[in-house]
Order: sequence, then structure tokens, then C-alpha cells
Amino acid sequence: MKKFFALVLAILMVASLAACGTNSDATADQADKTYVIYSDNAFAPFEYLDESTGEYVGLDMDLFAAIAEDQGIKYEMHNEGFDASMGAVQSGQADAMIAGMTITDERRKSFDFAEGYFEDGQVLVVKNDSDIKDFDGLKGKTIACKTSTVGGEYAESIKDQYGFTINYYEGSNEMYQAVATGTDAACIEDFSVIGWAINSEKLPLTIVTEQPFNNSFYGFAVKTGTHPELIEKFNTGLANIKANGKYDEILAKYGY
Ligand code: GLN
Repeated sequence: MKKFFALVLAILMVASLAACGTNSDATADQADKTYVIYSDNAFAPFEYLDESTGEYVGLDMDLFAAIAEDQGIKYEMHNEGFDASMGAVQSGQADAMIAGMTITDERRKSFDFAEGYFEDGQVLVVKNDSDIKDFDGLKGKTIACKTSTVGGEYAESIKDQYGFTINYYEGSNEMYQAVATGTDAACIEDFSVIGWAINSEKLPLTIVTEQPFNNSFYGFAVKTGTHPELIEKFNTGLANIKANGKYDEILAKYGY
């Protein structure tokens, strides 16, 4: 019997030593890890292609670069689109995303978010010469929404009440074009993003909503239960760049 206990003890010791080994390996891996971060690709001023350099730039790109520098995070940024980013994080192809992504309770079921870093809401947008003033004017019409966004979710929740149907587009630009060309009567977009697009691209579009609806914060996100260390570093880095003025500098660069 004694022998048996000695054997069990020996097995337990070996097992716990092995566990220690993997633990410290994991910590070493993490320190050395290059995180794969996904983002949108046409969501100015948060992320968009600088045609002159072929590089993706924007508030999210600068913000994450500043936080990564502050926290010593190694990463690769992949600008693949919003729906693609959501899918990549959920499938484990990406470790995290930063894509002007609104923090919502619904999303908290499948994502863990860092502290919000920018507040925004959505607005209803129509063509310049349209006489539609609000959702009441959309009866029998189609509206353009971007796949997987909170704008689309909101439209789904009120479409029966107002009697419109929804056409989905992968990117913000396709959605704007659908309204500009008259394919759809309106679209829903984040206020700061459509404001930027109308000003910089001279789109024939008008915001008809007086106040943005569904105001909430944008957040950096990982799949629920993964990479808590990355969320922690993001939060610490965000607090540091808020304290040292870098955060304000980045916002000011984009006119905020
Ligand atoms: N803020 C919106 C959302 O989270 C849109 C994001 C985007 O299109 N990149 O759904």
C-alpha cells in the first residue's frame, strides 16, 4: 500500500512539474508573441488606405501603434473589412480587432472589450435631393446597411414598424454609392465616419438625423475568454497615452 501511495505521489509530482514547464513556456511565448490584429479597410477617419503610400492609416491605426509602443506589443495589422474582422476573431484567425467597433451588450456575449476609446452613434443618411427626413419616410423603400454592424442591427429592429427592407453591403463605400446612385433610399452609418466621407469625398449625401442614435463607445476586442493579457495591456497603454498627451494628439490629428 505504501508503495502505491509513493507511486501516486511521484506521478503527481511529475505531472505538476510538467504543468509548471508549460506555464512558463506559455508566458515566454506571450512575451514573444506577434499578435494578429484585424481591422476595417474603408472606415475613415479610423482606418483607410493612404493612396499615396499604399499604407493603411487612421485614428485606430495610430491609437493602436501608440499603445503597442507603450506596452511593447508586437503585432501585424490586417485591414480586411469589418465583417471579415468579426469572423477572423471568432474563428481564431485573428487575436483581436480594432475597427471602430461599437461596444454593445449583444457583442459582449462573444467578445471581451477593452475600455472604450471613442464615443459615436449612428445617423440616417439620404441623397441630397431626397425629400426623406426620417424613418417615417422610408415606407416601402429599401435602405442600405453594412454587414454585421450595429446600424444593420438597429435597422432590423425597426424595419417592420417603418415598413422598409434592408439591402446589405460589405463596405461603407458600397453603401454610400448605393444611396448616391438611388439604388437605396437611405443608409445608416456612424456619425463621425459619414461626416468625414461627405466632407472629404464630396458625396451627394445628407445627414437627416438631428442627434446620433445609439451613442456608445468604440472598443478593442478579443474573442470571449481569450488573451486577457492583451486587454490588460491595451487598457494600461490607453491610460498611459491619455496621461502623457499622446491620445489627445492623435484625436486632434483627425479633427477631434
Ligand atoms: N461602429 C459600427 C459597428 O460597430 C460600424 C463599424 C464599422 O463599420 N467598422 O457596428
